[in-house]
Amino acid sequence: MIPPQIIDQISDKSSEGLALALASDEDGAIMELQWCNKAFTRITGYDNRDILGQRGTILIGTSMAQGDHLLIIEKLMNWEHFSVKVRTNRKSGEEYWQKMSWTPLSDPSMGDRWWLCSLIELDETPHNPVVHSTLATTISNQELLADYAEKIERLEKENTRLFEMARTVAKESKEDPLTGLSNRRHFEVELKSWIQKLQNGGTEFAVFYVDLDRFKSVNDTLGHDAGDRLLLSVAKMLRRLTSETDLIARIGGDEFVILRPLGNSALDISSLADAIVQEMHAPFAFEGKSTFCSASVGVAIATASMDIPEQVVTDADMALYHAKTNGRGRWSFFTEEMHADALATKRLVSDLLIACEKREFVPYFQPLIDASTGKIVSAEVLVRWAHPKLGLLPPGAFLETAASMGILKRIDEITFSTLPETLAEFDRAGIDLPRISINVSAGRLADPTLIHDIKRSGIAPERLTIEILESVYLERIGDVVHWTLGELKELGVTIALDDFGTGHASVQGLLKINPTILKIDRQFIQPIVEDETSRALVHSIIGIGKSLGMRIVAEGVETEQHALFAGRMGCDFLQGFHFGKPVSASDLQQRLLETNGQFWFPAETDIATLRPELPC
Ligand code: C2E
Ligand code: CA
Ligand code: CA
Repeated sequence: MIPPQIIDQISDKSSEGLALALASDEDGAIMELQWCNKAFTRITGYDNRDILGQRGTILIGTSMAQGDHLLIIEKLMNWEHFSVKVRTNRKSGEEYWQKMSWTPLSDPSMGDRWWLCSLIELDETPHNPVVHSTLATTISNQELLADYAEKIERLEKENTRLFEMARTVAKESKEDPLTGLSNRRHFEVELKSWIQKLQNGGTEFAVFYVDLDRFKSVNDTLGHDAGDRLLLSVAKMLRRLTSETDLIARIGGDEFVILRPLGNSALDISSLADAIVQEMHAPFAFEGKSTFCSASVGVAIATASMDIPEQVVTDADMALYHAKTNGRGRWSFFTEEMHADALATKRLVSDLLIACEKREFVPYFQPLIDASTGKIVSAEVLVRWAHPKLGLLPPGAFLETAASMGILKRIDEITFSTLPETLAEFDRAGIDLPRISINVSAGRLADPTLIHDIKRSGIAPERLTIEILESVYLERIGDVVHWTLGELKELGVTIALDDFGTGHASVQGLLKINPTILKIDRQFIQPIVEDETSRALVHSIIGIGKSLGMRIVAEGVETEQHALFAGRMGCDFLQGFHFGKPVSASDLQQRLLETNGQFWFPAETDIATLRPELPC
């Protein structure tokens, strides 16, 4: 056993930032930080209190390149030792470069897996910013091999030393120093013993996973002291609502777990969950200021029939997630359906990472029609995922998850990279596709490489429209986005504002982006034939757009009547299933050949006979 004084000295004197995280058995990327040393705090700005129970993602700042972020997650998921040189942010937001190494450690006695994260701040931007030195992949000759063996030996020694250290740090106490409740470590030991008793014919029990909904904001607005006071009052409340036979633990910053033996009545369980949620609806006062911080609770039962009773904690966590996504400040009971959903999301996440690597995204195209001539003026590029097992998937099946993973930008990049060749094929075949419109996520718009990619693509900027969503400017245009928009306009790329009317846009925001084209969302277009109020709304949107010199697209044109109404009301361009659903590049080529670009014949129908009250 290493003397604690030596460990204290490592904590104080090591110039390398060190942190230890307890990781999930199944997935190395899921972890909770437990300890860090002084150098770590000096480099990152996060101290032991900040990191306790936090995921490793606290170390991934907004300035980190997306590729580096993905690489780190992938390596962690696979339990690989690796080092990267990356740009990231301190707690204060300040950017800096660091060399970050992750070493997997294991504790054979408890069966736990840990990560050691070590950081060295780099003085300046490295020449070769990202060095993916997973040792095995960078060895190329004998000399390096010797070096490799030496490093492995050193790492093994370090592994043993740090693993001892991790155990000492974690075992020091059973108590959470702030609240006096059980700490994570003690909770885990207790859980094992409850499960053992259950398997020996003992009582079934419930697990309550409690998470505060706005703890971070209390900390940020009222300060750490207020945060501590809130945690203390939650601990007090939980003690009051539970009995001697229950176990209460604080297992992360604002996460609590309760184990309660199953009594005769299921009410014991639901009334405790109810009571916690209700109590947390009351305001929390600190030094004359008061605020609200509700709690969400997930509940699951460990039964004798479970194959893996340890699963009950994950089940409760899933139920908690369900409570959170259903509006917070409530509790949910675990159901098998949640399990299936969580598995499906997990599979989607890993499939999406592979899809990015294998570039499984293909562009589909939907025509935009000139409302006065009926000729195609452009095609909107809509991404499809050519999933190896599930076939072609529409964006609705994956974009939201991709956005939450932060890889939407990557998907946009991949889709865009396929377009030069596709357009060249149209040109070679002598088929006239005048313009394409691409959808660009906020992340991609904030990425300066977008401009490079467009310049390098060989696609004439005058042939390109970029569609952005209102939310981009509702989120306050950042400097980079502002710069990118300016550059795009300078290059001659057209800017369109997508789904206009759905995101609480202000005219001021509209002026900020100053798009050339305004696309009216299909939810406003679809009722225009029947509903006068909708027509009035569309009229006023068109009025605003036209007064600012913009051209208007009507989306979701599904019928001849939609087309006539929208055209007559002043929309310049029309898009919708009436003229064509999104199709592959070759199908679009075929369609263009057959129609010679004439997708509609507006003059053929006598507008007046369709509906006498048609607005003029
Ligand atoms: P969006 O940009 O508003 O694209 C139009 C969506 O409406 C497309 O759905 C299209 O198939 C559908 N649509 C077109 N005409 C009609 C119609 O007449 N009736 C009905 N009911 N629907 C119609 P899709 O392809 O499923 O795309 C959904 C959304 O996903 C897009 O909405 C866009 O926001 C996003 N998206 C698509 N491709 C990309 C992409 O490459 N990058 C990014 N960032 N987002 C994309
Ligand atoms: Ca669009
Ligand atoms: Ca749209």
